[in-house]
Amino acid sequence: MTDLYSEQHALALDAADPLPTLRDRFLIPQHGGREMAYFVGNSLGLQPRGARAHIEVVLGKWEHEAVEGHFSGDAQWMSYHELVREPLARLVGAKPVEVVAMNSLTANLHLMMVSFYRPTRERPAILIEAGAFPSDRHAVASQVAFHGFDPATDLIEIEPDEPGGRFSMGAIERAIAEHGPRLALVLWPGVQYRTGQAFDIKAITALAHAQGAACGFDLAHGVGNLELALHDSNVDFAVWCHYKYLNSGPGAVAGCFVHERHAQADLPRFAGWWGHEAATRFKMGPQFVPSPGAEGWQLSNPPILGLAPLRASLDLFEEVGMPALRGKSLRLTGYLEALIRLRLAETLEILTPVEPERRGCQLSLRVIGGRGLRGREAGRALFDHLAANGVLGDWREPDVIRISPAPLYNTHADVLRFVREVEVWRELG
Ligand SMILES: *Cc1c(COP(=O)(O)O)cnc(C)c1O
Repeated sequence: MTDLYSEQHALALDAADPLPTLRDRFLIPQHGGREMAYFVGNSLGLQPRGARAHIEVVLGKWEHEAVEGHFSGDAQWMSYHELVREPLARLVGAKPVEVVAMNSLTANLHLMMVSFYRPTRERPAILIEAGAFPSDRHAVASQVAFHGFDPATDLIEIEPDEPGGRFSMGAIERAIAEHGPRLALVLWPGVQYRTGQAFDIKAITALAHAQGAACGFDLAHGVGNLELALHDSNVDFAVWCHYKYLNSGPGAVAGCFVHERHAQADLPRFAGWWGHEAATRFKMGPQFVPSPGAEGWQLSNPPILGLAPLRASLDLFEEVGMPALRGKSLRLTGYLEALIRLRLAETLEILTPVEPERRGCQLSLRVIGGRGLRGREAGRALFDHLAANGVLGDWREPDVIRISPAPLYNTHADVLRFVREVEVWRELG
């Protein structure tokens, strides 16, 4: 029998993996003279080595050409956002006309709701998951109030029905059916940030549409993590950020999807000059004529320095492709799960679904106990021990550590290092 727990085995898995690691294409933070085992790509992805060169090109153009940089060369600023359009479309399973990189996630969510949350007296409600990321909850509650409705009754938060905060498809189906006639919008995560649960985007969209509601997704934890098929899933809109699994740097320019069937639609929107059709934008006329598709929602000329690292990151996704990356992700996270079951079952409870198709790369781990400590106390102590030893996850109150093996740069050896460090902590007791 192979010993899952041997270092030799972990190294052999890395050496034999069909997708060799792209770890050397990233800058890996050091801790105590060695590379970190960095499992926080769900929060801030690591810096691709290519990012600096893309930024320096922009700085150089600014230095030497100044305003002419808008119009010169392949990477001219005038059409810079178009450089990421096709790779982004491939990444999320969309047509190029359906995606744009702009603003930040929460800003895009508001812009999308201006167009796709059109409440009426009979149909005023938004449905989201209980325990949604605070920014999403603030955004939807403020939109409900903005339209003169009451979040106490018209923001419907459905409770998870499975242990660990997971949702069954049945619970989602029942909630959408129960509230259907009152629903203006269903907003759902692609992957829930706290539990790591992944959802069936196509099925949820169909349920919302069957009730006459619009359907949008927050893909902050889905993009670069799952294989997405946004066009075929028929979602009305989606928003995401690029600093998590997309490795494009703190506060990176975000992403937005608007389905092609809305590309030419005369939807109400908050408009800006960069959303005006490109051909006549610089005629500077008073009449707003939207660019077809997602680009029609742009407000301002984009921050070019902010977009530059996204190009470096998308180069890597283009090179590997989501199917191969997801394959590797399933192997890495599967290995993490197997090791936890084998060695840490009394210390860590896995909150994330066990079915691979119901999760991305992240496992959310509730700290049960260890070293005579329980719950929150044990959790904090374990988290601090890991961090002090160069194994970085992230901490969610009251007692959860999230570990996200990112398949572009994490390895089986990283995963083993995490498990061994938990054992060291437990045995220090
Ligand atoms: C990371 C994250 C955000 C962050 O919003 P920003 O506008 O990028 O600051 C919002 N929602 C979810 C679900 C997230 O995971």
